[in-house]
Amino acid sequence: MRVLLVGSGGREHAMAAAIARSPRLDALFIAPGNPGTAALGTNVAIAADDVPALVALARAERIDLVVPGPEAPLVAGLADACAAAGIPCAGPSLAAAALEGSKSFTKEICDAARIPTAKWERFDAIAPALEFVRRRGAPIVIKADGLAAGKGVVVAQSVAEAEDAIRAMMEDETLGAAGRSVVIEECLTGDEVSLFAFCAGETAVLIGAAQDHKRIGEGDTGPNTGGMGAVSPPAGFDRATQDAALDLLVRPMLAEMVRRGTPFRGVIFAGLMLTEDGPKLIEYNVRFGDPEAQALLIRLQSDLLPALASVADGTLDAADIRFSDEHSVSIVLAARGYPGRPAAGGVIEDIEAAAALPGVAVFHAGTRRDDAGRLVAAGGRVLTVCATGATLQEARARAYGGVARIRWPDAVWRRDIGVRALRAGG
Ligand code: ATP
Repeated sequence: MRVLLVGSGGREHAMAAAIARSPRLDALFIAPGNPGTAALGTNVAIAADDVPALVALARAERIDLVVPGPEAPLVAGLADACAAAGIPCAGPSLAAAALEGSKSFTKEICDAARIPTAKWERFDAIAPALEFVRRRGAPIVIKADGLAAGKGVVVAQSVAEAEDAIRAMMEDETLGAAGRSVVIEECLTGDEVSLFAFCAGETAVLIGAAQDHKRIGEGDTGPNTGGMGAVSPPAGFDRATQDAALDLLVRPMLAEMVRRGTPFRGVIFAGLMLTEDGPKLIEYNVRFGDPEAQALLIRLQSDLLPALASVADGTLDAADIRFSDEHSVSIVLAARGYPGRPAAGGVIEDIEAAAALPGVAVFHAGTRRDDAGRLVAAGGRVLTVCATGATLQEARARAYGGVARIRWPDAVWRRDIGVRALRAGG
């Protein structure tokens, strides 16, 4: 099989590593890829959201399967363009990607499919939105309806804070078109976990669950990032509980999407909150998370390639998908300054020594080769160090052992990835 993988992060390096292990693979192209994926296939300098160029490459290279990593190619219509060109694609159409792109669309689907979620209302004008929060009081959650790269949600602790968020989104348009409509939600409390599944039509096959660490600082302090680390599985959220959550929060959504004539295919990432009244849906994303994908995929025992092909051709029911019962941890090494302005250019050494440790894998994201062929930092999140272990303690110790072997003076990372899960009994 000839495969085109789209993206350039740690998630895509982990996907490329799993695809490259497949005996069914004939050729792997990655657009645009990174120095880690360059060792597993052919990197092609095409941006992840340049749909016409990606389809032209897929045609020229007689690609049998296109695998989108991030959301950018999906919201740019890659799956639809592949369908028009007759090329199988393991990701959702634009219509189905609205599950990530529009919060009010997701809430409508939840209501239609009777999926537990926070009570909500959508507002297209500012006056009724302000009136609503004054009537409801705080805490209350204000969300820009469209995609806002993690900046579109304000969990307001006071009515004044909620009013400010509404004015910023709807009047000052700080988030552009994404904030012209807002969704206002009841504030839920509980532990947050992420659930992942391969989906095609009405079929969902569990991948696993993870808990991520979004803030830059230890103890969950400081600004939000793309994700600084993840553990899998979260404490107290075993596979039986995960499968029950899939029945409650994902399978009814898939049936509703089929009923509407816009079936979902691809990887679903359901963000949920474990409330006192049971799990409730916070959001869907229509692709793997990063760094959750790295922590999940290092436990994959079966062949990823036929699983992805079955997502694309609708035969997922019959696919062989197996994960080990081990625990896993992923730790992001970011460049000093991230998530503001990251330091660039520092030389990174001894990745191979780290990756040779038992259970450890290292994935590239913001790296590049300089003119002398040395590996240097070229981004915010630069590497993900992952490890598996029989227990969470063992996986953590192995992953931090891997981090300690890497020589890169500009690295910053959190020392407390997994501590929350350990305290909770993981
Ligand atoms: P963006 O569109 O800006 O990328 P996002 O996809 O990150 O936003 P969500 O995942 O919906 O947005 O929300 C971000 C965070 O806000 C959640 O992880 C959760 O901590 C909090 N949150 C969202 N909805 C609620 C709610 N109803 N109650 C309490 N907290 C919530």
